[in-house]
Amino acid sequence: MAQAVLTIDLGAICANWRALAAMNAGETAAVVKANAYGLGAATVSRALAEEGARTFFVAQAEEGVTVREALGPGPTICVFGGHMEGDAALLRQANLVPMINSIDQMLRHVEALPGHPFGIQLDSGMNRLGMEPAEWSALRDIALSQNPVLVMSHLACADEAGHGMNEFQLQTFRQMTDGLDVPRSLSATGGTLLGPDYHFDMTRPGIGLYGGLPFVDARPVVSLAIPVIQVRDVNPGESVGYGNSWVARVPSRIATISAGYADGIIRAMGPKAHVWAGETRCKIVGRISMDLIGVDVGQVKDMPETVELLGAHQSVDTLADAAGTIGYEILTSLGTRYARRYIDR
Ligand SMILES: *Cc1c(COP(=O)(O)O)cnc(C)c1O
Repeated sequence: MAQAVLTIDLGAICANWRALAAMNAGETAAVVKANAYGLGAATVSRALAEEGARTFFVAQAEEGVTVREALGPGPTICVFGGHMEGDAALLRQANLVPMINSIDQMLRHVEALPGHPFGIQLDSGMNRLGMEPAEWSALRDIALSQNPVLVMSHLACADEAGHGMNEFQLQTFRQMTDGLDVPRSLSATGGTLLGPDYHFDMTRPGIGLYGGLPFVDARPVVSLAIPVIQVRDVNPGESVGYGNSWVARVPSRIATISAGYADGIIRAMGPKAHVWAGETRCKIVGRISMDLIGVDVGQVKDMPETVELLGAHQSVDTLADAAGTIGYEILTSLGTRYARRYIDR
C-alpha cells in the first residue's frame, strides 16, 4: 500500500483540552474551525463533547452545520464570521450562534432571525473582526436589549507573553465590557496561558488542543507514516529529482517515499526538512514532487517500511520551522489523500 497513514490521537486531544480547562475557572470551549485544524471536525467534536466540552466555535456557518450533524442538539455552536447574507436558514436549522461583528450584521440578524441567540464580537485592537469601540458605543444599548449570550474579542499577540499588546487589548476589552451582565471571552490558547486576568468567563483554545505551540506542554496529537516505495544507490555526480537540484557528492542511498506537496507537504520546506527512519534522522533531498519525496537513508541500518514525517520524533512546530511557517498551517494543510486512523479516547 502506497497510501500514507495519518494517525490522530483523540485521547491526546481530550487530554490537552482537560489540561487547558484545568488552568481556568470558567468554561473551556473548543475551536474546531477549518475541519478541526485539518484533523476532522465531526470526529474531534464528538470526542471533545464526550469529554465535557459544551461550546464549540467554527469560522463559517457551513462548518457549524457539519459540527451540529456530528453532535446533535445540545452543545452550543458559535460562528466567528457572524451572520452573513444568506446564512439565516443555516443558522436557524442548525441552531448556530453567530458572533455579530458589525451594525450591519446586527440589523440583518434581528430582521432575519428575531429572538435567535447571538453573541457580540468586539475589536480590541487587532483590526480583524468585531465592532470597534465607537461602533459598539452606538449599538450597545440596542444589542444588549436583544440579550446576547456572549461578548468576545481576540488577542493579536498572545503567543508572546511579554508583548505590550496583550495588556493594551485586555484594558480595551475591559473598558468595552465592564459592568455588562453577559458572559465574556477574550482568550484562545495563547491567552489562556497568560493567566487568570485573561480568562473571563470562557476560553476558546484551538491549536493547544491539537498539540501545537504556544501550548508547550501539549501532548502530541498527529503522526504521519509515509511508505517507502523504492531504495536505490546513487553514485557521486548523479542527481535526484526535478531540476537536478541535489547532486550526490559521495556514494549515497536514496529512498523514494510516497507523499508530496499534493498531501500538504509544503514544497518550499524541501531544503530544510527531515523525516525519521526508525531512530535515524534523514534529510530530504532534491525537490519535493507532487506525490514523491527523495530521502537520504545512507545512515539507516534496517530500512523500515515507512518513515515518519510527524510523530514522536518530529512535532508539527519542528516541521513548521523547516517550512518557515507555523504549526497551524502544517495542520490545516494536511492532505485528503492520507488514510486517517483515529486512536479512541
Ligand atoms: C482561531 C481562533 C481561536 C483559537 O485560536 P488558537 O490560537 O488556535 O487557540 C480563538 N478565537 C478566535 C476568534 C479565533 O479566530
